[in-house]
Amino acid sequence: MHKLNRPTELTELAQARRTYTGTISQDEAWKNFGDNGERTKVREQLENTQNYLCAYCENTLANDGHIDHFKPKSLDWRVTFDWDNLVVSCTYNDSCGKKKDNDFEFYWLNPYSTDPEEMFKFYANGQIRGTSADAENIIKDFGLDCPRLEKKRNGILESYQKVLLDLATEQPDALEYFLQAEESPFPTAHKQILNEIIGA
Ligand SMILES: [Zn+2]
Repeated sequence: MHKLNRPTELTELAQARRTYTGTISQDEAWKNFGDNGERTKVREQLENTQNYLCAYCENTLANDGHIDHFKPKSLDWRVTFDWDNLVVSCTYNDSCGKKKDNDFEFYWLNPYSTDPEEMFKFYANGQIRGTSADAENIIKDFGLDCPRLEKKRNGILESYQKVLLDLATEQPDALEYFLQAEESPFPTAHKQILNEIIGA
C-alpha cells in the first residue's frame, strides 16, 4: 500500500449521497447508482488516480477492478456514497476487498487517508512483513501475504534487484534513473528495494 490522493468528487456521487436517506437498502441504492453508468464513472476516476493498481495490494487491475467500500456499507448506510470510503480493489478472493468482505477493524488503514508505507516491509523473495502488530494483522486481514501475491512479487522483484545490484557495482550513476521511474505493479516494494541498494 502507498498513500493515494483523492481527486475531486464527481457531482453524480455527491448528488447520490445527498439524496440517499437509508429508506431503501444499501445494496439496492448502490445497484441503482450503477444503472445509468455513474458507478462506472466513479470507478474509472479512482482507477486513473490509482494508476490502474489495486489500492491495497498494488497489483495490476487488468479490467477486474471493483469499487470497494473501505467500511462495508452493510455496517452503516451512511458510508454507501461517502467519497472518503471508496477505493478500487482487485477482485481476487484471496486478498484485498474480497478477502476483507463485510468485516471491519478499527486498526485498518485507508490508503487515501493515511500513509501506510512505513508499515510494510517488502522483500525480493516476494514476502511482506508488518513493522507493527497492527500492520501484521492488516497483512493477514487483507491477504497481502497470500501465495499468489508473494509469487508474483517474487517473480518481478528478484530480477529487479539483480539489475540494480549489477548496476551498483558496474555503473552506479545509472541508478539515478531508477529514482525517477515509478515501477509498476508493486511500486512500494520496488522503491524499498531500490532505496536499500542506494542506501537511502
Ligand atoms: Zn488487491
